[in-house]
Amino acid sequence: MRIIVHHATCQGHARCWAQAPDIFKLDDEGYILPGDINVAEGDELLASRGAQACPERALEIDRTAAALESVFIQSRV
Ligand code: SF4
Repeated sequence: MRIIVHHATCQGHARCWAQAPDIFKLDDEGYILPGDINVAEGDELLASRGAQACPERALEIDRTAAALESVFIQSRV
């Protein structure tokens, strides 16, 4: 699973971080860091909660096969 980060949409509410601070990294002003997030196996529930907590819909959950494969490949490196 991957979280697609729509960085320009982020308004710095930090609700994602409040749900899962190890998954959603913020800058010093409380905005999500740019770049999509590959979610490790076992962290899917936390990541989903964090993404759904975003009131700006800046975090899109990607469950396509390509997203799953990229997590699988990273876990083997
Ligand atoms: S909850 Fe949404 S708007 Fe707030 S910091 Fe996270 S991504 Fe940005």
